[in-house]
Amino acid sequence: MESCIFCKIIKKDIPHFSVYEDEYCLAFLDIYPRVKGHTVVIPKIHVETIEGADAQTITTLFSGVQSAVQKVTEVLQPDAYSIGWNNGEEAGQAVPHIHVHILPRWKGDGGGNMHTIINKPGSTSVKELASLFT
Ligand code: AMP
Ligand code: ZN
Repeated sequence: MESCIFCKIIKKDIPHFSVYEDEYCLAFLDIYPRVKGHTVVIPKIHVETIEGADAQTITTLFSGVQSAVQKVTEVLQPDAYSIGWNNGEEAGQAVPHIHVHILPRWKGDGGGNMHTIINKPGSTSVKELASLFT
């Protein structure tokens, strides 16, 4: 997609610091890192969110995430990782080209976990909600 900043990175119109690359995806250092080694992994085709992606794109993207993690481990040896993505504008996605954030974590780094993203469970019970899925 012409105006997409991550498509421009893939086309090498914008420079990046590569962490890992294969036929299907590219992993590079986030330009505004939240922690040392903050890496983003993107598919080489323009897809905005998981809902619009085909199975092969997701499979190869997650395989790329694993390879990028292996590379970051080799270089920085963190103790753990927070891995995830902002899927959709209301969830905080700023760049509309799906990308997985890899955040290296160290013992005592003071960061949060998935549960710190939101804590608004609402008044519908889990049992009530479950009935909607059957
Ligand atoms: P999100 O808020 O999930 O859409 O994340 C977008 C991420 O892309 C942010 O963490 C930005 O710092 C990062 N980013 C934006 N432009 C660039 C760039 N040119 N090179 C590397 N990372 C970028
Ligand atoms: Zn794109």
